[in-house]
Amino acid sequence: MTERTPIASLAGVSKIYGAGETQVNALEGADLSVYPGEILLIEGPSGSGKTTLISILGLLMRPTSGDVFVRGQRVTGLAQRELPPIRAGTFGFIFQGFNLFPALTAEENVAIAIKMKDPRARDADAEARRLLTAVGLDNRMHHKPGDLSGGQKQRVAIARALGGDPPIIIGDEPTAALDTRTALGVMALLRELASIQGRAVVVVTHDPRLERFADRVARVEDGRVTAVDTIDHSRAA
Ligand code: ADP
Ligand code: MG
Repeated sequence: MTERTPIASLAGVSKIYGAGETQVNALEGADLSVYPGEILLIEGPSGSGKTTLISILGLLMRPTSGDVFVRGQRVTGLAQRELPPIRAGTFGFIFQGFNLFPALTAEENVAIAIKMKDPRARDADAEARRLLTAVGLDNRMHHKPGDLSGGQKQRVAIARALGGDPPIIIGDEPTAALDTRTALGVMALLRELASIQGRAVVVVTHDPRLERFADRVARVEDGRVTAVDTIDHSRAA
């Protein structure tokens, strides 16, 4: 790999939940860098620390020890109140369960997220329509989640994650609730966001079939990042 500058990274990150007898060492000395334009998969058994890892990377949670860097800035050295604007300007999140508001249309779901990220956003409705068009939902803007398929709902969630134009998209098992064909379609869309728009896409998954879309796979076992493999697409099947 040529010399590149990570957009975000973890250095020696550990996380302990609880204390005493119920203490859980969820992460121990995890190192990981995320680069623009790549899809990085995070694979590992249930309970290995994947959600904890991306929650710390995405500034949703502080590590017990170790450091988090965003664009070269050591954010673990900052006060709590300084984190929300950095989080909002850097990360978009996609979840397994979509987390859409059922009473709001696709357009409203995306627009409200844009306004939450930036209360001064100029024209959140137009931006929502632009993002929904970008994910192929131009004819579903006014549908509510209940009238959308699983794949369409996840596309709304991806459009919402793109609100505010974050350079890093983080997904926690975003394809787990989808059938294979739909899951592969969602991954193809994420691949475009990485390759064409240069975003970093970090995806937690149990599904090795997603590796065909990825550049690297970080393997998490028992709270440790045990390997980070570059995927060789030259021997594609
Ligand atoms: P994964 O996403 O790989 O399934 P998690 O990061 O969710 O793993 O969890 C790692 C470990 O930390 C597990 O043993 C889990 O039970 C524990 N854990 C996660 N969140 C909490 C919490 N809020 N309080 C206590 N233990 C937790
Ligand atoms: Mg998890």
